[in-house]
Amino acid sequence: MLDLLFPPVCSACGIRIGRGSQLCHDCLGKLRYLTPPWCSKCGMPQSQGGVCFHCRQNPLSLETVRSVFIYEEPLRGLIHQWKFSDHPELFYFFARQMFLFSQLYSPLASWDLITAVPLHPTRERERDYNQSSLLAEALGKSLEVPFSAKTLQRIRGTQPQSKLSETDRRRNVKFAFHSAPGLANGKRILLVDDLFTTGATLNQCASSLKEAGARRIDGLTLARTPLT
Ligand SMILES: [Zn+2]
Ligand SMILES: [Zn+2]
Repeated sequence: MLDLLFPPVCSACGIRIGRGSQLCHDCLGKLRYLTPPWCSKCGMPQSQGGVCFHCRQNPLSLETVRSVFIYEEPLRGLIHQWKFSDHPELFYFFARQMFLFSQLYSPLASWDLITAVPLHPTRERERDYNQSSLLAEALGKSLEVPFSAKTLQRIRGTQPQSKLSETDRRRNVKFAFHSAPGLANGKRILLVDDLFTTGATLNQCASSLKEAGARRIDGLTLARTPLT
């Protein structure tokens, strides 16, 4: 009866689909997963392994960063739907993809702690919740690694990164984060975010965690901007 009134539809294109799926076969096929060979540091696909040019010029404070999807349509629209309206089914889909990805690709293997890039407190209130933190928490449950939302705090407001150049992005997030002493000390930490663009935000978070004594930091993001 419920299916007649509210037939399940594809979250991306709206056609009817079977219950229990989020996307139709066509839209699912359009999502591009990142796969090796890739840069051993930032996970950007390249014809062979090793460290990419960008990472050699701008060394990451993280041991590795990996992203599940390329940030393009229809994924971009799905992330937007998930962030700005209530779509729990998309959250489950994304959380599941992150878990499967982390299982497939080591060295995403053994951590003591999972945490997420924090939103500024005022922005968290506006949007109700921090999506990256939800993903990190779900991943922690699946991987059986403790999740902590308190390991990192944003101590300074920043402008939205999307409109800034790479240099300005680095400047914008410098000193924006703080890691409380004790929580990160000696830990191998997986840092989760929704989007990897230049890595400036992840890098600043990782620097703060390192200052607080973290032993190793890896990054995992849901998506990364298309490769140029
Ligand atoms: Zn579709
Ligand atoms: Zn790289």
